[in-house]
Amino acid sequence: MKTPERRNARTPEGTRTGGECRVGLGFDSHRFSHDRRLHLCGIEIVDHPGLAGHSDADVAIHALIDALAGALALPDIGELFPPTDPKWKDISSRLLLQAVLGLILERFPDFELVNLDMTLITEAPKILPLKERMIASLSELLGIPKERISIKGKTNEGMGWIGKKEGMAALCALSVRI
Ligand code: MG
Repeated sequence: MKTPERRNARTPEGTRTGGECRVGLGFDSHRFSHDRRLHLCGIEIVDHPGLAGHSDADVAIHALIDALAGALALPDIGELFPPTDPKWKDISSRLLLQAVLGLILERFPDFELVNLDMTLITEAPKILPLKERMIASLSELLGIPKERISIKGKTNEGMGWIGKKEGMAALCALSVRI
């Protein structure tokens, strides 16, 4: 039986081990657009074209939202924030993520994000020099230590639409406890 003590059990380092463990996987891709500013993981990158989309097109946060929604079997990002709704036009994806976290905590009051593993697939910009800022941004948005967040950059070796720099993609895996 899961007593409240067992549900909220933690390691000496503070990692929750009680409750139910879930994993989620999210994917997103967007086309580059010279008319827009580039937002990735909630930060703005000034020296590269942005991404086309209804919101600010932060492909990383969109994959993250879908991973969270997937872990908890909630409606996906397209259902939560339909691109046909003018309310979400040009909105910061940071606000979308905050709204999703609010929704999750309403449904799952003991929710805790354990770790997050993000892969950004693009020929440019180079992710490595941006990694520290991105991790700090996600740590602040999600309220979890930076040590639980991994961000990796991959190119597509020049192949296909990513290789031709038409756009970029993001994959996010994560685990949660509820
Ligand atoms: Mg998207």
